[in-house]
Amino acid sequence: MINIVLFGKPGAGKGTQAEFLKSKYQLFHISTGDLFRHHISNKTDLGMLAQSYMDKGDLVPDQVTIDMLKDAVETHSEAKGFIFDGFPRTSKQADALDTFLSEKSMQISATVALEADDDVLAERLVNRGKISGRVDDQDEEKIRNRFEEYNNKTAPLRDFYEAQGKFHSVDGIGGIDEITHRLTTLIDGLL
Ligand code: ADP
Repeated sequence: MINIVLFGKPGAGKGTQAEFLKSKYQLFHISTGDLFRHHISNKTDLGMLAQSYMDKGDLVPDQVTIDMLKDAVETHSEAKGFIFDGFPRTSKQADALDTFLSEKSMQISATVALEADDDVLAERLVNRGKISGRVDDQDEEKIRNRFEEYNNKTAPLRDFYEAQGKFHSVDGIGGIDEITHRLTTLIDGLL
C-alpha cells in the first residue's frame, strides 16, 4: 500500500498533481479542502462551521477536520492507497493521522512538498479565484493569511516527517507535466 501526503502552500498545485498521481498509482485522493467545499455546497452543519473559518483563510479546527478525514478513509477501505492533499496541516493532525493509520496497520509512505515562493503562489491564487469564484482566493489579505497559517502551523511538520525519514520536496515551479515528472521520478525511486 502506498500512502502519500502532498504538502505545499495554497496554490502550490497539490490538487492538480494529485489528479495525475491518483491514476498513475491507483490511489484514492482525499482533499480536505474539497470535502469541506462539498459540505458547504450541501449546507451541512459541518459545512456551515467550516465556511466561517475558510472564508477568512483560517484553518478549520483540528478535531472536526480529523474526524472528517477518518471518515473518508474508512468509507474507502478498499483503496489500494491514499493521497492526502491538504491534510495534515497541524502537528495535532499529523499525530492523529499516524495513530489512526497504525491502528489499521497502515502508514505514510512518503510526504512530498511542492515548493514555490509566495509571490508566484499569490498570483496563481488570484487567477484561480477569477475562475473558481472561491471566496478565499479573491482577496490578497485572505491569501496572505493562508500563507501565515501555513508558516505557523503546517511548515513545522517538515521536521516531524524528516525525523521519520519521510520528507521530500520537489520544485513546484514549471509546467504541469514537468512537475508531474519530478514527482513520479521521486515516488518511483521510493517504491
Ligand atoms: P488551499 O491549499 O489552496 O488553501 P484547500 O482546498 O486545501 O486549498 O483548503 C482550503 C481551506 O480549507 C483552508 O484554507 C482551510 O480553511 C480549510 N482546510 C483544508 N484542509 C484543512 C485542514 N487539514 N485543517 C484545517 N483546515 C483545513
